[in-house]
Amino acid sequence: GSTLEIKDLHVEIEGQEILKGVNLTIKGGEFHAVMGPNGTGKSTLASAVMGHPKFEITQGSVHLDGKDVLEMEVDERAQAGLFLAMQYPSEISGVTNSDFLRSSINAHREEGDEIPLMQFIKQMDETMDYLEIDKNMAQRYLNEGFSGGEKKRNEILQLMMIQPAIAVLDEIDSGLDIDALKVVSKGINKMRDEQFGCLIITHYQRLLNYISPDHVHVMMQGRIVKSGGPELAQKLEEQGYDWIKQELGIED
Ligand code: ADP
Ligand code: MG
Ligand code: MG
Repeated sequence: GSTLEIKDLHVEIEGQEILKGVNLTIKGGEFHAVMGPNGTGKSTLASAVMGHPKFEITQGSVHLDGKDVLEMEVDERAQAGLFLAMQYPSEISGVTNSDFLRSSINAHREEGDEIPLMQFIKQMDETMDYLEIDKNMAQRYLNEGFSGGEKKRNEILQLMMIQPAIAVLDEIDSGLDIDALKVVSKGINKMRDEQFGCLIITHYQRLLNYISPDHVHVMMQGRIVKSGGPELAQKLEEQGYDWIKQELGIED
């Protein structure tokens, strides 16, 4: 499996420091959850790792299997094995879901070794069935007019088809009803193996009832302030974040 190593990451947006030294290592076979109140920098972490231009890295490093991720263009990061499911997936008019998926898969393969069309269609069909996605979604423009739940299922479809080494899933559970949450969780759990590491960013503990993380981290004010096992998520569910603030003497 691969290793994503984030060290002392500092990130600014429009001159304001949002991440103030984040350390996190995710290895193949591991599921990590990052939880925390709104506005603490969880999405900033995801976007910075994936190379969103708005986020300026002022200090620290990100390496994937020893390679400097921060030196890579966004598409190079994807080719290197990183995958990001954004909190708000963008709509791409004029590109069908199916075409987008096929070119994403082929971008991960050597030239001349493109996925055969029939194999792609079969795999997409099976995965859409598995995720209970309506078949006509394949020919619709990417995310255009998709409901919140359809967008999230579609992100998991991409995840399962692309089979990245490391995925960052930002609030993949937000806005999902219980049935959609179960399907999305089923897809993520299906990915579990030694070749796949996952960072699950969530505001709510609910998702973690379906996906058991090996490690749980709490982010506050741009730092990871506490790490533990699944019991930490349980405690947050029962007691909220205030006890951590008190423990650390953080005021808001
Ligand atoms: P979280 O995902 O934990 O809710 P975010 O990473 O989205 O937090 O936001 C962290 C902080 O950065 C917030 O104060 C937010 O207002 C600010 N921020 C996020 N994105 C932008 C942006 N594009 N422009 C300016 N400020 C931003
Ligand atoms: Mg938020
Ligand atoms: Mg967020």
